[in-house]
Amino acid sequence: MNCTKCKTKAVIGLPRHNAAFCKTCFLGYVHDQVAKAIKHDRMFEKDQRILVAVSGGKDSLALWDILLKLGYRADALYVDLGIPGYSSRSREKVTRYAQTAVGTTLHVHAVQREEGAGIRELAMLIHRPTCSACGTIKRYQFNRAAIEHEYDVMATGHNLDDEAARLLGNVLHWQEEYLEKQGPSLPASLDGFAKKVKPLYRLTERETAAYAVLSGIDYVVEECPMAKGSKMLLYKEVLNRLETESPGTKQKFYCGFLDRQAPNTPSHDSMAERDRATLHPCATCGQPTTAEICSYCKMMARAKTASAR
Ligand code: SF4
Ligand code: ZN
Repeated sequence: MNCTKCKTKAVIGLPRHNAAFCKTCFLGYVHDQVAKAIKHDRMFEKDQRILVAVSGGKDSLALWDILLKLGYRADALYVDLGIPGYSSRSREKVTRYAQTAVGTTLHVHAVQREEGAGIRELAMLIHRPTCSACGTIKRYQFNRAAIEHEYDVMATGHNLDDEAARLLGNVLHWQEEYLEKQGPSLPASLDGFAKKVKPLYRLTERETAAYAVLSGIDYVVEECPMAKGSKMLLYKEVLNRLETESPGTKQKFYCGFLDRQAPNTPSHDSMAERDRATLHPCATCGQPTTAEICSYCKMMARAKTASAR
């Protein structure tokens, strides 16, 4: 198998593009796909500051690496969930990568230290599934860090597999509210909410993994232990099966959705207007919320009461 571009020996085949690439041309292909996504979805400009949400996994570290190589000003935030073993291993990978990323800043939020208990204990205290408590904390802390440190945009490492699996879940359960907001670029609807973007949405999980390996990025290979048995993993398995039988399925599914979504989605202005009408500062922390107290502060208050019992 030879590289489609330069005809030297290929290291990876991409059936969905009917192509194969050598190392150099593959890294170039990945950079091009991300550059295209940034431009097509007007994610950010060269002079803007980006905060990348990193977990220690291949996608987020690859994203940080790609943005830096494309010449963007990208720092990162790592949320240490306090999961024994897994969190220290992933934190080590993030720290190691950050040491090589000269001139960048790595912010760390340690759940155990800041919230008083690791994510599993916190979730148990408030009788909520761990992943749902984790989602609340991560959304809150990422947004807060982006606003407080004045970043223009927050970037996450969601890839095509993540987005197609999420779309499948949203369609299977007709989660219309989520479908409306599922896109690669979510604007800052009002002061206090950072703009959120997903520059890897044109690349599959296999491609981001290959990018990380070929670029020498040392990432945590294991999944978060809490992900075991999740619906997302099942949806990904189903989509992988379809992709093997019919290459390009994931891309057609997700990008087809984005093409059809555009004319029906409420404009960013009307979304911002709707948000402005329903959101106000949380009475405890000042972050935007639709209730008197935001869901993060409510969760922390419940955990505090439960642990005092
Ligand atoms: Fe958080 Fe659950 Fe994801 Fe682990 S699997 S990082 S607990 S949402
Ligand atoms: Zn609050």
